[in-house]
Amino acid sequence: MEINPVKGTHDIIADEANLYTMIEQTAMGIAQLYGYKEIRTPVIEHTPLFLRSVGESSDIVNKEMYTFDDKGGRSITLRPELTAGVMRSIVSNKLYANADLPIKYCYVGPCFRYERPQAGRYRQFNQFGVEAVGAPSCYQDAEVISIGHHLLSSIGLRNIKVLINSLGDEESRANYKVALKEYFSKHIDKMCPDCKRRLETNPLRILDCKVPEDIEIVKGAPKMTDYLSDASKAYLNKVIAILKDIGIETEIDTNLVRGLDYYTGVVFEYHFAKTDGIDNIGALGGGGHYANLLAEVGGPSYEGIGLAMGVERLAYIVKSVVNPKLPIGIDFYILGMTEQIIDQNFALADYLRGAGFIIETNYATKSMSSLLKTALRKNAKFAIIIGEDEIAKKEVAVKNLKTQDQTYVKLDDLENVLHSLINAYYADEMKLEGKEE
Ligand code: ATP
Ligand code: MG
Repeated sequence: MEINPVKGTHDIIADEANLYTMIEQTAMGIAQLYGYKEIRTPVIEHTPLFLRSVGESSDIVNKEMYTFDDKGGRSITLRPELTAGVMRSIVSNKLYANADLPIKYCYVGPCFRYERPQAGRYRQFNQFGVEAVGAPSCYQDAEVISIGHHLLSSIGLRNIKVLINSLGDEESRANYKVALKEYFSKHIDKMCPDCKRRLETNPLRILDCKVPEDIEIVKGAPKMTDYLSDASKAYLNKVIAILKDIGIETEIDTNLVRGLDYYTGVVFEYHFAKTDGIDNIGALGGGGHYANLLAEVGGPSYEGIGLAMGVERLAYIVKSVVNPKLPIGIDFYILGMTEQIIDQNFALADYLRGAGFIIETNYATKSMSSLLKTALRKNAKFAIIIGEDEIAKKEVAVKNLKTQDQTYVKLDDLENVLHSLINAYYADEMKLEGKEE
């Protein structure tokens, strides 16, 4: 019986897996440029962690968590996001004690949400993120927003829209919720069941509704910006100005509230602005300021700011719009036409891999023409051919599979010559790319 992958999961294979690795390494490398240290927390956490942090009025807690009782009867949840686990870890390991504030961590790893699978939306997906805790400042908020922007441009994405908003301080937010409740009460009969629940638990959540009819009603709702205190307004404008100074344009979106309950103050999202020929996959990433999260999970009342980007969504956009790079392929395919040559090739392949080349070779005898076809199919740049003559002369033949040029190389000099052949090959590729543009 064939067993299918679990709905909403996907296998990431070969070139696509390379792309994911490239994105994740780029992301972690950039975070480290800003002084963030890596943190790896467990995929499973006690369920109350998410109830308290992500929040009981969020869609994630209400309908999307993978929660089960373990064999000891404890309620366990597969993490739907990583911020809560990072906060829990800061508390469990007392990472705040004697620390130079802010403490800054970056992470990448899988998350699980029971959502309806569609373009850019999976039940297991990967997030990259950063958290900076303990030294609230508009510069700190701007730094985190700029890290996401830095990542997007490093992986070749232009046309990025950065949306920003402020959820204000507690008093502004409370006043705003009253105004929203009053407005939505008049329309709630026509709205989705989730919004009916949200009106009672947290009317802010309604602004995040993705049902088209509800979005129309949301358009007429009171705007957060009209309820912000002067201090919150000045803070938001300062963050916008700091970013503008380093060339990052932002756009205020008064309906931007984000899907998690813990945000206070500045919130933001990154969107890919070009839409033609590309699926609507929602935000590439987002985040915001949180004033009470660490205290909520048992730590000191340090404020923080965080960012999370969806690796699947980034990979999708890179694949769709950035010139797809050549598959990496292999450097040299070593042909073995006889058992004796195959026997010698094994050690030669081992030696050349040690010198840093990507090498493949065959273990079952085949004809030269069939091996050359294999080498081409595998995107090998060169074939290394060793016959009776070559063995006698202590040399190998190296064939460029694109130009068909063949050179003979003495074994003594092999490593150096192969390096210069590969360098010349890449130099040639770059010239070709330049011509095409
Ligand atoms: P959305 O509004 O698209 O549902 P969200 O508000 O739930 O996003 P966060 O919880 O802040 O998003 O997660 C940060 C990022 O993780 C998102 O911007 C997105 O890129 C990615 N992400 C969230 N949910 C999924 C999912 N189910 N599949 C793939 N990526 C996701
Ligand atoms: Mg969501």
